[in-house]
Amino acid sequence: MILPKSNRLSPEQVAEVTAIVGAFGCSIQPIVGAVRTIYAIVGDERDELMINRLEGLAFVERIDRIQSQFKLMDRRSDLATHRIRIGSVTLGEELAIIAGQCTIDPKNPGYFLETAVAVKEAGAHVIRGGVWKPRTNPYAFQGDSKSIEILMEASRVTGLPVNTEVMDDEQLALALGAGVHMIQVGARNALNYSLLRSIGRAVAKRDTVVLLKRSLHMGSLSEFISAAEYIAAFGNPNVVLCPRGTSPALDGYRNHPDESITPLLKEKTWAPVVIDPSHSVGKASYVPACALAAVAYGADGLCIEAHVSPSHGIGDDPKQALTPSVLAETIAQAKQIWALRQNPVGSR
Ligand code: PEP
Ligand code: MN
Repeated sequence: MILPKSNRLSPEQVAEVTAIVGAFGCSIQPIVGAVRTIYAIVGDERDELMINRLEGLAFVERIDRIQSQFKLMDRRSDLATHRIRIGSVTLGEELAIIAGQCTIDPKNPGYFLETAVAVKEAGAHVIRGGVWKPRTNPYAFQGDSKSIEILMEASRVTGLPVNTEVMDDEQLALALGAGVHMIQVGARNALNYSLLRSIGRAVAKRDTVVLLKRSLHMGSLSEFISAAEYIAAFGNPNVVLCPRGTSPALDGYRNHPDESITPLLKEKTWAPVVIDPSHSVGKASYVPACALAAVAYGADGLCIEAHVSPSHGIGDDPKQALTPSVLAETIAQAKQIWALRQNPVGSR
């Protein structure tokens, strides 16, 4: 829909607009109001270049898109009935829990294996474990490819699928080659379109699930859903959105908890939303409340850092990992909120 700056376009302006949209197989249809006339674009109006050319016209105030930019991830797309399954859980049917250490310590694999067993007992459906880590400090531990074996051993021991983050094509190939079930795109890479494309291409013929974190710098919801569309465009629609706190940080929380965006996302996309309360707040004592709030807001699942002995952990674990007993209690309470949600306030 074209909204001109003036009350109506002059015949010359109409001709200019018609020529632009005509080059993209579209036409315009004026909608005449008492004072103002606006112009509907008839045809497929999703072409970015056409919109940019129209927005570049000095006499155009703005263009309102009627059609969604998301051919696959839109709530109204044919994929809206698609259900994502990982291990024993189907997202949307019960609260999905991804839990485990932030970082696998290759020097102490025993902790990871113990953590994996403990989080399974606490109710996790997927084990998380960082093999490679995006660290702000270049001198901090960056992860170790050897940890992939420890991750897969945890999968064998527990019988659960595993999740790990990849930051480049080499890590992606190693993770998929080893049989990792869920590939994580971290907050720092959620806007790395060439990595998103690589992941989309690599998972296209698999039943791999991608956990896409929300970037700290994503302003609009569309930016987040577009990143998911990048992956799905190659053919595998198993993309789960994972808000994990955004900028600016509150004085006290590691990031600005963004679990309240779930209802807004769900108005636009069918993609399941799994909230990461651990990175949102950054401190173990704040995590349970954030997790429960996330479920109240409509999350389909939670991704929580946990460790059998947080003080012996590396990466984020000493600060933000829950112990297995606190994790179990958090999951139990989160399930109660999930059950309450089946009968929401205001629905009767
Ligand atoms: C993580 O999951 O350990 C991690 C680094 O997450 P994020 O990309 O959200 O910071
Ligand atoms: Mn972490």
